[in-house]
Amino acid sequence: MKVVFCSAEVAPFSQAGGLGDVLGSLPRAIAEQDTQAVIITPLYGLVDAEAHQLQKTDISFEVQFHGKAYPITIWKGLLPRSEVVIYFVDNYDLFGSRKQVYPYGQPEWELEGFLVLSQAVFELLRRVNYRPDILHVHDWHTASVATTLADIRPYDQYFSRTQSVLTIHNLNYQGEFGEINWLKEGILKADAVTTVSPTYAQEIQTPEFGAKLDPVIREYAHKVSGILNGIDTELYNPEADAFITTKYNRSNFAEGKKQCKEALQVEMGLPVVPGAPLIGFIGRLAEQKGLDILLQAMKEMDEQASKPQWVLLGTGDPKMEEALKGLNTKSQNIRTFIGFNTALAQKIYAGCDMFMMPSAFEPCGLGQLISLRYGTVPIVRGVGGLVDTITDVRNQPHRGNGFKFAEYSAAKLKETVQAAIDYYHNNAVWPELVGRGMDEDHSWKPSAEAYKTLYAHLTHPAPISA
Ligand code: ADP
Repeated sequence: MKVVFCSAEVAPFSQAGGLGDVLGSLPRAIAEQDTQAVIITPLYGLVDAEAHQLQKTDISFEVQFHGKAYPITIWKGLLPRSEVVIYFVDNYDLFGSRKQVYPYGQPEWELEGFLVLSQAVFELLRRVNYRPDILHVHDWHTASVATTLADIRPYDQYFSRTQSVLTIHNLNYQGEFGEINWLKEGILKADAVTTVSPTYAQEIQTPEFGAKLDPVIREYAHKVSGILNGIDTELYNPEADAFITTKYNRSNFAEGKKQCKEALQVEMGLPVVPGAPLIGFIGRLAEQKGLDILLQAMKEMDEQASKPQWVLLGTGDPKMEEALKGLNTKSQNIRTFIGFNTALAQKIYAGCDMFMMPSAFEPCGLGQLISLRYGTVPIVRGVGGLVDTITDVRNQPHRGNGFKFAEYSAAKLKETVQAAIDYYHNNAVWPELVGRGMDEDHSWKPSAEAYKTLYAHLTHPAPISA
């Protein structure tokens, strides 16, 4: 079985959020399932070709698109800790000059790049003579690969047996330009559609979460399924994490957490107060992530006698960036950092006591899974993948791994944080809660198996019995 992954992001080369994490780890897990996998992605200016030892190949060609010829050169690298080859599509005007994966406020430029990328995929695969069984595309950026495949398959021998899978990591980014909605086209034409959690696969069939595409998703529900994301458990591993002060595991958790917490407090300029719970937030600064209710609750809590400390890391919407920056001067107990910073992210996962995800919607969410692994207790709003992965310890004292609230409001959020703080101060329950989370297995293996089963089903449909 030969699979090709096409994506706008692949960690550690280029990343804006969870999509990068998934493409940086799922292909490796697939390759470990006796399946061949390659990845195709753009060579943005922000990709450090030298540090990642990427090599320019002698493959070059032109993509004809909307009456224009785009010269393409192919670079090549390996996904770390694997044999998975990554092909980088290089065109200076479209990608080389881009300093962000998604250039804010320049949607036409973004679209042109992703559509040319999608066309380049087919020519590249012919040039390297890699005839895929599966083209696995991700989000609207590469959805047009599935559309083109459906169009050319009837007469193009090379791709006549290839099947497509479109994974929706976030339904709210649709690539809608004038008459054409690229995500919708992909949903119509892909052979299978998946989302990144079972709950989200259900939610997007409703008007509340469907972002206007729910009628289409309901109509094609027979080819839609949800497969939960995993995390790279080698990368996110408190026992081996190169970025954190003290490595720790389940048995020396208390000491490891204490030292990582102190180091984080010092680095961020927070008072080192024993017993003050430290709560983290890491995420794209977008409406989806629930920052409006979070900031309001933080402000109210900061006026209380027993207040938690907060560390927030994120980048995105310039208005939200400004709001976050302003908090540094308003309170001693709140520190924010604007930027995409993998090292600091891992120090936050390790150094905090709790991790906050008050999302308005959340297709899967990785922050809560990474937190569990670092013994950092998630406080989440019960939507999407957060429903599938977090059990509230208040309802299930012997199974719970975090805290979960339903209503999207600052008041509910505050109440839940307060409950978490009460547990935190109770030595009879906290270590057990932390330990249960650390024991959970959120590796990619079961999900990679589920994808492999889907691929097999698409390429060898079960015979219809008489
Ligand atoms: P989404 O895909 O909606 O962005 P997820 O929770 O699925 O959200 O994944 C976010 C991933 O991106 C996590 O691995 C998180 O640690 C990482 N991340 C998000 N923002 C930053 C940032 N500013 N710096 C470092 N890592 C970040």
